[in-house]
Amino acid sequence: HPPTLHSPLKVAVVGTGYVGLGTAALLAYFGHQVVGLDIDQDKVAMLRRGELPIYEPGLGELMAVCGDRLRWTDDYASAIPDADVIFICVGTPPLPGGQPDLRYLAAAAQDVARNLNGKMQVVVNKSTVPVGTGDWVTRIIEEHAPDYKAHQYNVVSNPEFLREGTALFDSLYPDRLVLGGNNEHGVARLLELYAPLIEQDFEAPAHVPRPAGYTRPEVVATSLSSAEMIKYAANAFLALKISFANEIAGLCERVDADIEEVVRGIGSDTRIGRQFLSAGAGWGGSCFGKDTSALISTGEEYGYDMPILRAAVTINLRQRQLIVAKLQKHLHRLQGKRVAVLGMAFKPNTDDLRDAPAHDTIARLNELGATVVAHDPVAMERARREWGHLKYVEAESAGAALVGADAVILMTEWKQYAELDWNEAVKTMRQPVVIDARNVLRGGLPGGTLERIGRRGQSQPQPQSG
Ligand code: NAD
Repeated sequence: HPPTLHSPLKVAVVGTGYVGLGTAALLAYFGHQVVGLDIDQDKVAMLRRGELPIYEPGLGELMAVCGDRLRWTDDYASAIPDADVIFICVGTPPLPGGQPDLRYLAAAAQDVARNLNGKMQVVVNKSTVPVGTGDWVTRIIEEHAPDYKAHQYNVVSNPEFLREGTALFDSLYPDRLVLGGNNEHGVARLLELYAPLIEQDFEAPAHVPRPAGYTRPEVVATSLSSAEMIKYAANAFLALKISFANEIAGLCERVDADIEEVVRGIGSDTRIGRQFLSAGAGWGGSCFGKDTSALISTGEEYGYDMPILRAAVTINLRQRQLIVAKLQKHLHRLQGKRVAVLGMAFKPNTDDLRDAPAHDTIARLNELGATVVAHDPVAMERARREWGHLKYVEAESAGAALVGADAVILMTEWKQYAELDWNEAVKTMRQPVVIDARNVLRGGLPGGTLERIGRRGQSQPQPQSG
């Protein structure tokens, strides 16, 4: 493919959360003129000051080089009329019944519609939404855009696959780009917009280098509904892999096999793959739980049972309970016991606390009367705002959390936790009970009691690979 001469487009990104910020930064980096819009005025004010409302490694650096190609507003009238392409990236959090709450999407679609200019603007839905939502958004736009000319507008689905913590890498070097639309104009516009990404015709940022061997993403052009389904099916499958590893881990404990050896043995089969085949405290975060529930509830709407997904969810909940059960195995009554929890966010390198397993663990420890001392390298400030209903004492460092504790639970696999000198650290504890809920501690723990998921606790030091 010859290098393409790219013409910059004008882009509006509605919703500046994890997905919207990544999208805005990526497109501005490629040379497009981008305005990020959010109804949260505090967020907009922060962004205007050059501060990031979320923790995402490398994102600030990327934004800093975009200069005035990237601006922020809370005003639809200043962002939408000029845009060639409008991305909707608002949240779709779960309702109690499992379906996603589409009220933010509906509000955003209405405000977008009221400000469309009647020309060939393309509205792209990047939020994760149930199959059929694209058509619904089209109808909302038709209702609220008086000058709407149906054949001219197009709603396209462009689901997002980034992982928090590695969002930039995932956005710059994705495996695939899914573009779902029912008429050619919208998809063609997105191909134009994403040309630098598709051709990999951009200078890789120094802090997110292009991986060796990476060439370009596969472009998967589909119908609107298929694109919407792809996003859910992908997340459901990844969640399933984790639950599968956890189910096998439970049996490993009973038959004295080691899940780490087992997943190495099965994951090296390219038909299976090693990724997302890790036993531990189970999945969390803003997507897997929400998206599996949404898929199950879509099935219910159509009278179609989805037993594999239901089982994946059940296993995930069981896994969370297992952590406290392992603690009870060693400490028995937890009343009055001091338990250190290392890691609050659902995974390392993010401050996202949504559906984090640590939340349920701390809540359960509260119920059982334990004193919780918690630490997270980046999520503690957010926890102060969002976890006010939980009782825990903040620790200044991982080491400080352990002092005088009866047990420690390693909840999130932050590198710095794995790299602690555990043999020394446990000497400061009242009882050296370590629950490694992510199977990250290598070797044994001669001075303490090490409990892991799906493997014997006091195993001998192991080779890292092979
Ligand atoms: P988020 O909650 O971090 O951000 C959503 C933003 O939208 C917020 O800043 C909110 O203020 C803003 N917003 C709400 N209503 C608005 C409106 N009417 N107009 C303008 N802004 C509005 O959400 P997120 O994590 O970025 O996720 C967004 C969507 O992307 C969800 O559907 C999610 O499922 C999907 N997704 C998320 C991830 C992820 O890792 N976070 C990955 C892939 C897909």
